[in-house]
Amino acid sequence: MSLETFIAAMPKAELHVHLEGSVRPAMLLELARRNGVALPADDEAGLRALYRFTSFDRFIEVYFLIKSVLRSPDDYALIVRDLGAQMDRQNIRYAEVTWTPQLAEMQGLSYEEALGGVEAGRAEALRLWGVEMRWLPDIARDYGPEEGEKVAAQAIAGLGRGVIGLGLGGSEHRFPPELFEAAFAKARAAGLRSYPHAGELAGPESIWNALRLLGADRIGHGVRAIEDPELVAYLRDRQITLDVCPTSNICLHLFPDYAAHPLRRLYDAGVPVTINTDDPPLFNTDLVTEYRIAAQHFGLGADDLCRLSLNAVRGSFLPEADKVRLAAEFEAEFERLKRQHL
Ligand SMILES: [Zn+2]
Repeated sequence: MSLETFIAAMPKAELHVHLEGSVRPAMLLELARRNGVALPADDEAGLRALYRFTSFDRFIEVYFLIKSVLRSPDDYALIVRDLGAQMDRQNIRYAEVTWTPQLAEMQGLSYEEALGGVEAGRAEALRLWGVEMRWLPDIARDYGPEEGEKVAAQAIAGLGRGVIGLGLGGSEHRFPPELFEAAFAKARAAGLRSYPHAGELAGPESIWNALRLLGADRIGHGVRAIEDPELVAYLRDRQITLDVCPTSNICLHLFPDYAAHPLRRLYDAGVPVTINTDDPPLFNTDLVTEYRIAAQHFGLGADDLCRLSLNAVRGSFLPEADKVRLAAEFEAEFERLKRQHL
């Protein structure tokens, strides 16, 4: 028995994964056929060849391709159910999943229709596999602050239907956090948590502004905090979680390789970090692979990996009592698995 089998078996939670970016190539092809959408490739190998991103803009083009096949609430239910199956296979028990209402609207689906679809899929994933999901609808920054306020209002309308927070994605380097202050103020006042992407395509200033102006409860990526020791100390002192996606960062050229990636330095500095996939098939990865990478390239052992998994439970937006219950379940299972595998 080895660390490798332990990683596959250990219970996990994932806090940074996009629904649209989780559509597997086979599913993309099936939806395209079903909905009569022409894709630039007609087999999985052809699609995978498109998933080599020379820039963030190329990445966004693939996102638009994916959204073009999502035409009905049933399509959304199907991709959520498929994501649930992928999570079950990797023993991911809990996930906070980001999706982008603006992409659904571009396909003529109202927010209510899209939410109805993802909610049907969420109920199925829970019933079939016991996989728990919550929603983080996100604002696509590239459409500006007014659109942002509209998405905030939609997210608020989803309270009680799986929606627990408001995200902020898209071109961080072109649309800074300060543009979305009003949207996040509205969402927070209504009881939603604040979950912007920051410190991915822009530097520490973007993280500072996400914290100060958007009231970020947790940060998507945040890896460029490493450039500012004062910020690293701030994140450590206030125990603000960074949801790190190592392979995504390499594929989008933030760092040339894992050796240059700051995961280990942030972890050693005492910042609560979690391990995530972002968009698994687009980066040819899954969460088990990311944990294996954390072991192989960052020298993290079984105890460290258990801690990272618990960081995801504790950094989640679940109510405190649920976090305590889930963390206790995870810890009991870690002990059992360590005896069995290590
Ligand atoms: Zn992301």
